[in-house]
Amino acid sequence: MLSVQDVSVHFGGIVALDGVSFDIPSGQIVGLIGPNGAGKTTLFNCISRLYDVNWGDILFNGESILKSPVHRMSEIGLGRTFQNLALFSNLSVLDNIMIGGHSTAKSDYISNALHLPWIKREEKELRKRAFEMLRFMELEDTALQRIGGLSFGIQKRLEIARALLSRPKLLLMDEPAGGLNHNELSLLVDTIRRIRDEFGTTVLLVEHHMGVVMEVSEKVVALNFGRKLAEGPPAEIQQHPDVIEAYLGTG
Ligand code: ATP
Repeated sequence: MLSVQDVSVHFGGIVALDGVSFDIPSGQIVGLIGPNGAGKTTLFNCISRLYDVNWGDILFNGESILKSPVHRMSEIGLGRTFQNLALFSNLSVLDNIMIGGHSTAKSDYISNALHLPWIKREEKELRKRAFEMLRFMELEDTALQRIGGLSFGIQKRLEIARALLSRPKLLLMDEPAGGLNHNELSLLVDTIRRIRDEFGTTVLLVEHHMGVVMEVSEKVVALNFGRKLAEGPPAEIQQHPDVIEAYLGTG
């Protein structure tokens, strides 16, 4: 489904990624690990087209995505969550989720009154899907509440619900476990599995919480200083001497 091929990214003199390659087969949950500054978020930003690559290619379903603009990502089937919550605190939960379904093309129609019935149908459909996602995340009771009054753990789940609204084929999750308590962590593991099992969504997970990564991933890719250190099943990666030295040993 996703093929990262020899990707390098430089920021001035800093080499953030240095010839990184790996594949993510359709329907897998893949963990991306590495110490601070290893290049994980940079790679996420390249896949979601927020950053350009200096070298290499990224194929999604066999086609390069490097020429596609960032606003086309949800159309081609890519969704992502952010390390820092990107929700609007003074809007309701429902509005925040529905924002994930508006495209630029649709907002052009809003200026034309002739299209109002069409817009109303679209809004109704979007609202229905937003409720479905809230139900999936067991958060439908919060639909009319303001984001600002909700706990951090619930806001993290809403961030996932919003990313799922467009039914992505590949979901990029940037540190979904950060700041969660014990119960919320087991709910997260369960949710990631359900996203794959019920929607057939492939998941790439950047995560510092080793327990979560090792429990939920079928394959783990380890980075350090912008290079791929190792790739394989979680049990193998946990035993890999270079990974232990670079990351697990210091964690
Ligand atoms: P963390 O686990 O702390 O989030 P990470 O593995 O996600 O780290 P990146 O954030 O990708 O690592 O950073 C990789 C390297 O690239 C670091 O040296 C970082 O300082 C640098 N870097 C990342 N983004 C930028 C940027 N926009 N401008 C300059 N340097 C950057």
